[in-house]
Amino acid sequence: MRASCHCGAVVLEVDDSFSQLTACNCSICGRLGALWAYTTQARVTVKHAPDALASYAWGDRTITFHHCRVCGCTTHYTGLGAQATDRVAVNARLLPLDPAAPVPVRRWDGRDSWSSLGVHDAWPW
Ligand SMILES: [Zn+2]
Repeated sequence: MRASCHCGAVVLEVDDSFSQLTACNCSICGRLGALWAYTTQARVTVKHAPDALASYAWGDRTITFHHCRVCGCTTHYTGLGAQATDRVAVNARLLPLDPAAPVPVRRWDGRDSWSSLGVHDAWPW
């Protein structure tokens, strides 16, 4: 699958399929409105125009969010620092998922309890 930002300056080639997506309510995910599809570094190739990819990390800096500097779309996040894993969270809103086969969306309570609040939706609709 090919995830693209709106303007096409950042493209992720994703060699994976997804049976569940995650919507999180933490301070950044709630603002971004992203739906995360979790995969691994080996399954993702990031291609971008020169200088098009910007990153943002804050606080304890254990993950970093990447977005297109041209159109602003958040494309994915990756681990950062000594404890980083090979996990990549792709913003599923950029994936060409089939509206005829929407993927269940789990709510993750990143703001308070750090636990699942169950499946409440599906994407794309
Ligand atoms: Zn873009």
